[in-house]
Amino acid sequence: MTDHIVIVGGGTGGSVLANDLSDRLDSELESGDVAVTLINDGSDQVYKPVWLYVPFGKREPDDGRRPLADLVDDAVDVRNDRLTDIDTDSQRLQLRDSVEDVSYDHLVLATGSTLAPEEIPGLVEGGHNYYSEDGATTLREELLDFSEGHLVLSVVGSPHMCPAAPLEFVFMADDWFRERGLREDIEITYTYPIQRVHGNAHIAEWAAPLMEERNINRETFFNAESIDPDAQTVSSMEGSELDYDLLVTVPPHRGIDLIGDAGLGDDGWVDVDRHTLEADAATSVYALGDAAATGVPKAGSVAHYQAGVVGQRIASEVRGQVPTATYDGKTICFIETGMDAASFVEFDYENPPSPAPPSKKLHWAKLAYNESYWLTARGLV
Ligand SMILES: Cc1cc2nc3c(=O)[nH]c(=O)nc-3n(C[C@H](O)[C@H](O)[C@H](O)COP(=O)(O)OP(=O)(O)OC[C@H]3O[C@@H](n4cnc5c(N)ncnc54)[C@H](O)[C@@H]3O)c2cc1C
Repeated sequence: MTDHIVIVGGGTGGSVLANDLSDRLDSELESGDVAVTLINDGSDQVYKPVWLYVPFGKREPDDGRRPLADLVDDAVDVRNDRLTDIDTDSQRLQLRDSVEDVSYDHLVLATGSTLAPEEIPGLVEGGHNYYSEDGATTLREELLDFSEGHLVLSVVGSPHMCPAAPLEFVFMADDWFRERGLREDIEITYTYPIQRVHGNAHIAEWAAPLMEERNINRETFFNAESIDPDAQTVSSMEGSELDYDLLVTVPPHRGIDLIGDAGLGDDGWVDVDRHTLEADAATSVYALGDAAATGVPKAGSVAHYQAGVVGQRIASEVRGQVPTATYDGKTICFIETGMDAASFVEFDYENPPSPAPPSKKLHWAKLAYNESYWLTARGLV
């Protein structure tokens, strides 16, 4: 009998895991004792961190796309299809374009985050974003035309991908407008849903004075409730209202609905043990990356580290050994603090972040990491 490992989602986590498993289970794959299938609803992998640079004309959306088949080892069966139903009792999956169900012995959900701007009235019509390829491209046109007025960056709900990216955007926008001699005519306001400027208290404490220095206004405890695109106002649940000339939002995020339908968790996120990454509600099911509700940031670095843990655990299970690998919450993140400087944080469940002093060196390290990302996806670094 062949042990069938199915990974759903060919983003950072899914592709790193597929390559990890093909490496670890090399001989089992060769003998046919194990098969690995990676299902993704598209033929490309999309590297989202590129989108931060698109509005400022520093990268093109195409820089963030590569054919998945070029990134994943040939021993893995890569299928371009969409998961539409999970039955964890019979261990079967339904796919949109396949007549036959797919059965699994080990299932890994790496289905990432989905944007849900429609949850906030007026957001689709009134708000721009750089959290999607189209959004980042449109925002580039808007920014190029924007020479005076009020730019509002509103983080609408949490959790969202890359908790640092909203800070990065306002720091970069501040610098970009200064370089172009426009900053005095542009007011920048940053809104955040809780009482500080970032979900992590240590990062918030570090970022707030930097924002003060750069003359970036802060509206904390601001949960955008509705947007009036005609009046160009954004209203919060707390009863405040902001006028804007250009509104950039981080829209609400959800996982995929069928995770909830399968009873695996709320809002499309899979409830997991934060150390083993095993689903709480089903056996032989793991989740990693954005799809896993671990409480750590929804970041590519997290997906990468978690893929290594799940790879080790599944390889042990396949061999009849007790899996011992665990995830310690490790997260790393470069934080752009302008167009040519960045900070860096590294933390885990036990050790909080302590942002490094911003430097050019760290900015170049971030750009270099982005360039070498495709090696990471192949599992080479
Ligand atoms: C603007 C921006 C900047 C960012 N910057 C950084 C950064 O600097 N550093 C960092 O670490 N992270 C960053 N991130 C976050 C990072 O991109 C994500 O956290 C990371 O991609 C998560 O990886 P993942 O494998 O969990 O999901 P994803 O990479 O999103 O992959 C999920 C895959 O699953 C597929 N899928 C979904 N549903 C189905 C289905 N039903 N059937 C089949 N396939 C499905 C999707 O199409 C997708 O290919 C950034 C994100 C954004 C938006």
